[in-house]
Amino acid sequence: MFSSLTARIATFGLLVMLALLALIWMLVDASIQTRDSFRWVTHSAQVIETMDDAFAALREAESGQRGFVLTRNASFADSVDARIRDAHQAVGQVVTLTADNPAQNARAREVGTLVERRIAMLRGTIDQARRGDFDQARAVIASGGGRDLMAMVSLRVDSFLIEERALRTSRIEAADHRLAWVRKLALVGGPLLALLILSISLLFIWGIRRPAGLIRQAMTALGQGERDVRVTEPMGSREFEELADGYNAMADQLQAAIADQGRSERELKAAHAELMNNSDTLRERGEVIELLGGMAHRMQAARTDEELAQVIGVFVPRVLPGIPGGLYAHNNSRNLLIPIAGWSGYVPRAEGFAPDQCWALRRGQSHFVAEPGGDIVCAHVESDTIYHCEPLLAGGEVIGTLYLQGVVGEEHRFRLTVMAENISSALVNHRLQRGLREQTIRDPLTGLFNRRYMEEALAIEIARSRRSGIPLSVVMCDVDHFKRFNDEFGHDAGDSVLQSVASEMRSRFRDGDIVCRYGGEEFTIIAPGTTAQALSARVELLRKSISEIVLKQGGRALGSTSMSFGIATWAEPMARDGSTLLQAADAALYRAKRGGRNRIILDMPVVDDGGDSDSKPAPAQASVR
Ligand code: GH3
Ligand code: MG
Ligand code: MG
Repeated sequence: MFSSLTARIATFGLLVMLALLALIWMLVDASIQTRDSFRWVTHSAQVIETMDDAFAALREAESGQRGFVLTRNASFADSVDARIRDAHQAVGQVVTLTADNPAQNARAREVGTLVERRIAMLRGTIDQARRGDFDQARAVIASGGGRDLMAMVSLRVDSFLIEERALRTSRIEAADHRLAWVRKLALVGGPLLALLILSISLLFIWGIRRPAGLIRQAMTALGQGERDVRVTEPMGSREFEELADGYNAMADQLQAAIADQGRSERELKAAHAELMNNSDTLRERGEVIELLGGMAHRMQAARTDEELAQVIGVFVPRVLPGIPGGLYAHNNSRNLLIPIAGWSGYVPRAEGFAPDQCWALRRGQSHFVAEPGGDIVCAHVESDTIYHCEPLLAGGEVIGTLYLQGVVGEEHRFRLTVMAENISSALVNHRLQRGLREQTIRDPLTGLFNRRYMEEALAIEIARSRRSGIPLSVVMCDVDHFKRFNDEFGHDAGDSVLQSVASEMRSRFRDGDIVCRYGGEEFTIIAPGTTAQALSARVELLRKSISEIVLKQGGRALGSTSMSFGIATWAEPMARDGSTLLQAADAALYRAKRGGRNRIILDMPVVDDGGDSDSKPAPAQASVR
């Protein structure tokens, strides 16, 4: 209950009020008693004075009576009656006044009786004197009866007065005593009460100022930024404990709010930074995608492997700056990774490498060694090399690998991934296109160019020859007695012979020469930059080697064969589409057939000498079997 300051103030206020009331009551009571005491003192004084008056009146009456009787002067008797009345009245008044005090009242009555007896004697004497019987009256006085009675009255009055005076004295003392008590009460009770009020007030002031000061200090510190200041000292009262708890809760909430605000600010900053980062990343990715888009576009437009390699060699260093590397792709039989392109100074291994030499190809995912000994090193890479192999996947199938001499940082992974995807699809696309193109220009049985391609190529080569002045020659050739193979060994055997012959022809001509299957067992070779004469030497080698082939089909010996050749060189005014040139070569071939086969006939300009040009030995004409 007293933990509450309010309860304490109320209780102590009540106590002080009670003490004050008690003091007031005691003072009032003491003053009433004092007043009563003084009344009794006054009363006693009145009793004494009245008794004195009665006795004096009686003496004056006696004196008047004596003077009248002794002097016979009637004037003495004038005041006797009045004095007797006064004495009678006064004694009666004393009896009335002492009614509260039985002992004194008895004495007063006794005095009254004696006074009445004396009054009766005086009246008797006066009456005798008035009747003129002064002698009788003198005799009564001389008898001394009156004097004795007066002595008795005096005695009784003295005794009464002594008692009344003693009573008055005791009443004065009682009144003094009461006054002293009032004084003491006022002098002691007042200061004591004041002291009590003062000390309690001081206690309350201390009980308010101390906790209020502590809370104020904490609030000031909080205002100056000391967020962790709390009020922990005992407050001394429930009200201030509640105030301190309220402050502590408020400070906690403030601190939590500030912490929340700080956290929110940090989160906001982080989100902002992430946003900026993301926007940077997005912008960078946009640039990379644009760059890769350009690269993909060019790769798709590339017609040859060389063009593809050029595009890759230009764009990859822009996508992954400062990282040399090369591109390897599966060959057709998928047993070798062949070099396609290299960039930034890296020269791809011309011999390529086997698929199982690369961990990226084996695992179908990126494989890199960021520090020596950091991971297993691919067999196609020199040990202690820091490198990265990125497999190229298309339709879930590995089609090659990107070999990079260096570490691809996290920031470039996205570039690498998108670039690898682009290169993969471009590679697949390129190969698909090349396959389709090959299908349209190649003869499926022999792999040589077909007749349509040959005709297009011939027109182009004629145009080039005309522009440059470099000679252009054409060989038409035909397998001798080919029909026999079909007839003897079947059509498949015939096909096999055609393949063997075609293979031999391909191996005997230069890269720039275009070897075609004209149709059936007839072939055409377009040889730019050479004359029929010069070409005939190489054709002769071919003729010989073909005749030496031991033909087989699935382990079955087919024997041997031979071919006949006609060679012609383009010259004005031959047709620019090549038809005249082909006819010329075909005519030479015809002559070779007619001449006995297995030989070479050059188309020579017709010299009008009246003879058959076939009969003239051609400068490069082969010997006939
Ligand atoms: P010659 O020495 O006069 O050239 O006699 P040949 O038997 O070689 O000539 P011919 O024109 O009489 O016969 C050509 C044969 O070649 C006829 C045809 O059935 C056959 N032939 C044409 N194309 C193919 C082919 O793709 N495969 C096979 N197996 N035979 C073919
Ligand atoms: Mg033929
Ligand atoms: Mg033939």
